[in-house]
Amino acid sequence: MIVELNGKEAGLTFECMHIVPGKGDCSRIHPHFHYVDVLIDGEFDDKRRIVHLYNLKAVIKRICSTFEDKILIADYPESVQRIVMEELHYRIEINGKMYLIPKADIFKIECPSLNIEDLTVYFAGELAADLKNREMFNPINYFEVTLSEGHGQRGRIKIEL
Ligand SMILES: [Zn+2]
Repeated sequence: MIVELNGKEAGLTFECMHIVPGKGDCSRIHPHFHYVDVLIDGEFDDKRRIVHLYNLKAVIKRICSTFEDKILIADYPESVQRIVMEELHYRIEINGKMYLIPKADIFKIECPSLNIEDLTVYFAGELAADLKNREMFNPINYFEVTLSEGHGQRGRIKIEL
């Protein structure tokens, strides 16, 4: 049996900004409005539930909140992006420009890029860690995360548990 959460309808959303290496529009600092759809495949428990939806929404919202209103920085190689950590700021050189951004405004994500593919993999990895918590969730066969970045663009990944 499959249960699905529609991110837009369930409020599983976040807004953040990023700078993508290269030329053109995406090379400037720009925002995205993300929403997260989640599909869970599992078996009925003794309460006739596949998943506790309140708990599921809570963990997805917690992950969303780590991104909310932040500027994302990924682990691009030094040839592409150079970061100098100062006491209160990150000095970031990318695309021939230099940004001085307060640390509090940055989410330095352990991700090889900020492409929607890598962000989807990262988000699903964070969710997988929570779904393995057997005190909070029943055993799940697999789940899928679809992460939209707006403009009709999204990544989707299926994770077997
Ligand atoms: Zn972008």
